[in-house]
Amino acid sequence: VKKFFPVKKGLLEFNKEQTFVQAVNDVSFSILKGETYGLVGESGCGKSTTGRTLLKLIEPTEGQAIYNGKDIFKLSGQELRKVRQDIQMVFQDPYSSLNPRKRIGKTLEEPLIIHNIGTPKERTEIVMEILSKVGLQLEHYYRYPHEFSGGQRQRIGLARALILNPKLLIMDEPVSALDVSIQSQILNLLKTIQADLDLSYLFISHDMSVVRHVSDRIGVMYLGKLVEEAPTDELFANPLHPYTQALLSAVPVPKSGEKKERIILKGELPSPMNPPSGCVFHTRCPFAMDRCKLEVPEKKAVASGHQIACHLYDE
Ligand code: SF4
Ligand code: MG
Repeated sequence: VKKFFPVKKGLLEFNKEQTFVQAVNDVSFSILKGETYGLVGESGCGKSTTGRTLLKLIEPTEGQAIYNGKDIFKLSGQELRKVRQDIQMVFQDPYSSLNPRKRIGKTLEEPLIIHNIGTPKERTEIVMEILSKVGLQLEHYYRYPHEFSGGQRQRIGLARALILNPKLLIMDEPVSALDVSIQSQILNLLKTIQADLDLSYLFISHDMSVVRHVSDRIGVMYLGKLVEEAPTDELFANPLHPYTQALLSAVPVPKSGEKKERIILKGELPSPMNPPSGCVFHTRCPFAMDRCKLEVPEKKAVASGHQIACHLYDE
């Protein structure tokens, strides 16, 4: 039996000095227990906003985020705090949110104190256990944030996210600031921890190769819209949306002499304050037709688990 974390969202608008930005518009997806859902797209496409809105760190305009049968958007107070214990965020740079004058062990212990968990001795044990889970040594307990390398800091960020025993981690560009060799260490660690603790991940990144490495399924976003969703292998073998095709054409094929034709998109990414009518991709799409300027393409399934929003696939 699989447990579902369905997540549905509607139109979100943010009032910035009288201008409405359609950061995330009708994005809808679900995350299964134990899986990694990769959310990919260029910067500014709304993927970070999506992640933050799910936990009401940003107030949603409308829509739903169903977790364990409850709509997070309708929760407040104690109930919302409980959900924020179960669903933790991991950001690109954990360093900026670590208190520079506190030993790491003490920083990691804080959430346990806030939630009234354990005796001081038990809390120290929990922290030590988490430190070893993320590949740090016990002596790191007594060190200060500046004494750690970038990769180690991300391990600390992970430790902090894991300390309250969550079910789902929302990770926003968790390895983007790291060197490639460190990236793969962290990605492998994420996989180990996921299997170990039966965690679900929402993995947000602009980097297709990274997302491919960790994700079971992938959602591709463009200008606030989810334009395609498919299991990872299916998406890479058979990308259907013209935007996905362009994104993938820029990803080097590992261990193959095969040369791919890189698809260069014309024009600039339009402003989310004034998104194009109809299909938001029509100003840059090599296959745009007249109707694309007028009609918003509906998301539809073209194969099992493979959904796409593009008029090319209309009957
Ligand atoms: Fe291109 Fe039209 Fe498909 Fe949009 S709906 S991706 S403009 S073909
Ligand atoms: Mg972002």
